[in-house]
Amino acid sequence: MAASAPRIRIAAKAASAVRRGHPWVYRDAIAGRPPSLPSGAVVDLCDEADRFTGRGLWDATGPIAARVLVRRSAEAVDEEAFATRFERALRLRDRLFAQTAETNAYRLCNGEGDRLPGLVVDRYADVAIVRLDGAALDPWLDRIVPRFAPLLARRGVRSIALRLERGAAGDRRIRVLSGPDPPDRLVVREHGMAMEVDLARGQKTGAFLDQRENRARVRVFAAGRTRALNLFSYAGGFSIAAALGGARHVTSVDAAAAAHASAQRSFRENGLDPSEHAFVTADAFAWLDQAAERGERFDLVVSDPPSFAPSERARPGALRAYRRLHAAIARVLDEGAIFCAASCSSHVTMDDFVATLDDATLGDRGFRLVALHGQPPDHPTLAAWPEGRYLKMAVLAE
Ligand code: SAH
Repeated sequence: MAASAPRIRIAAKAASAVRRGHPWVYRDAIAGRPPSLPSGAVVDLCDEADRFTGRGLWDATGPIAARVLVRRSAEAVDEEAFATRFERALRLRDRLFAQTAETNAYRLCNGEGDRLPGLVVDRYADVAIVRLDGAALDPWLDRIVPRFAPLLARRGVRSIALRLERGAAGDRRIRVLSGPDPPDRLVVREHGMAMEVDLARGQKTGAFLDQRENRARVRVFAAGRTRALNLFSYAGGFSIAAALGGARHVTSVDAAAAAHASAQRSFRENGLDPSEHAFVTADAFAWLDQAAERGERFDLVVSDPPSFAPSERARPGALRAYRRLHAAIARVLDEGAIFCAASCSSHVTMDDFVATLDDATLGDRGFRLVALHGQPPDHPTLAAWPEGRYLKMAVLAE
């Protein structure tokens, strides 16, 4: 198979990135006329001197034309290679999550970061949800899922389902690949905290697992707090963490009403009475202005907005949006408040993000930056792949 793969020449810069371990080759780095190959075809990449640089899978549609899997020419890209790497990804999680009674929702495979480009697999109790980035892995699913199933079954995962990227609002967006059809919704555990996950209609693969450790941190910061605010609260993960941690009253703000219904069910699962807290369906920016006018103040605030920068071009606008958001939040921060500000925009670096929390934005109030956090260890990245390090959370204390 290796000998017969089509050979594709890539630009010098792309070849050097691949040699350092970067897994992507953009379409504009392909020399000459791009070959007419189906998505999923194995391709050999070579540099301008025709030296073998890497072997990967072709994507006929997206901006990323090839995702690199191996860099030794003797190594094959086949279902065996997928199974070996997937097992290596699982073994890391075996070490991280030995106590499944405490945490049974986590990322089993983080695509590029686990050297399986394009393949994301999240575990929710006994269900694995697969999400594919790009089109290259679609034709491989039939071959790799039967290899993955026994590895997962050994770890208590019975169903494997594919997350469908397309679909009308309200559609069930999962398709079973192996085992029993998973339920639309289930309750998982995260550091002992119960969380309802909407597998069929939720965002991402159902939940934002990348914030798990940050939710646990918020739980610690919530001790003794009287009024907590969770902006962009989705299914209420940070809100439950704050309430369980001791915050007396928690206000959750999100534009999506359905997310609040799920959050309220999760409150009950944790023995918390949602009627003692507030769930507001509103635009966070508009709500913040009104809350400041009313004189509302909070001594713990979490802000976790959706990505403001989907592309490099959107970066300056995103930085302005973060400043605007953080300035609006500053107006409702009580004296001595703790403010946890998050960003999931991959085009915004940690330093750029932190700069949007400076005194020009928050005011001359003496905020100190007490912690900076990124992704949890079940979301590994590669040294040569900075695009993978998208998550940032800054903790400030007055
Ligand atoms: N913090 C959450 C994830 C947040 S995802 C967690 O830990 O699970 C971002 C959320 O922002 C989504 O639920 C989306 O509905 C909401 N959202 C997007 N734009 C918004 C806006 N302008 N105002 C309020 N909520 C918004």
